[in-house]
Amino acid sequence: MTGIGLDIGGTKVAAGVVDDDGHILATARAPMVKDSHAHIVESICAAVDDVLAQASERPRAIGIAVPGTVDRDQGIAVSAVNIAWQRLPLVALLRERYGLPGVIANDANAGAWGEYAFGMGKGSQNLVFITVGTGIGGGIIESGRVVRGYGSAGEIGHILLSPGGPLCPCGVRGCLESLAAGPGIARRGRAAAAEDPSDIVLQLTGGDANALTSENVRDAAAAGDPAMQAVRDDTARWLAMGCQICQQMLAPECIVFAGGVMQDGGGLISAVRGWYQRLSGSEHPDVESFIRLAGESEHAGILGAAALVLQPEDPLHTGT
Ligand SMILES: [Zn+2]
Repeated sequence: MTGIGLDIGGTKVAAGVVDDDGHILATARAPMVKDSHAHIVESICAAVDDVLAQASERPRAIGIAVPGTVDRDQGIAVSAVNIAWQRLPLVALLRERYGLPGVIANDANAGAWGEYAFGMGKGSQNLVFITVGTGIGGGIIESGRVVRGYGSAGEIGHILLSPGGPLCPCGVRGCLESLAAGPGIARRGRAAAAEDPSDIVLQLTGGDANALTSENVRDAAAAGDPAMQAVRDDTARWLAMGCQICQQMLAPECIVFAGGVMQDGGGLISAVRGWYQRLSGSEHPDVESFIRLAGESEHAGILGAAALVLQPEDPLHTGT
């Protein structure tokens, strides 16, 4: 059996045909024109048409991962910060056009489900998923089900760790996201380099340490710059505090990290493990297995979306 995974973002739509084992058989991409419902649907269908044309068998269902909030039961994309949809009934629209049932989820929850079904969380019934990039997203799986609470559980990025700290995009000061996502790392990196930027920093930034990015911090730390290693260490400490809270609240079998910021050759994840041990007060017997790093895959979004229908949380409604 195969399913379609549809990963919808603010700039592009990625679609893939995926089999039961999580193998990607075909992919397609289309630019996202996001200014009206009609254009959004056209963009999505362009990617689905393309990937269906490549499929050797008819996929059974469509899994849809979107930014922002969803109404899962109604199959609706409710709202997103950077896409102009308001209660767009995506599941019904795609069912009408392609005759396929669908499931919709927020992209962080779909990412968690993808790791649970196919990735580093496979075999664990209880896990926490944390993706660190421009922002920090999260998803919680407990006893094989996504924890949603009364709406949007799993917003790990907005755990308040430093009241009055840096302003988070959500409007609160001092959330984990404001401290440990890309923009927060860049800000701390610039502050650390302001006085006396190292040769490595100057080289990476073309001589302008004020232009330092989180990627520059990553590269400078990897190249041995002590100030940037201290910034990385600080990031790890905030993330480890997040892990510690998750552990106390949920006692998961594992915490799976993903996202561009984590993909630095292993320096950050091992610093997170080290801080977790120090903050917890007692040695975790197997911290390497408890705090895991997702494999780097450009198709992680497609896999997470496809997992929604290939290993559905609830029976798929295949009727019309
Ligand atoms: Zn926040």
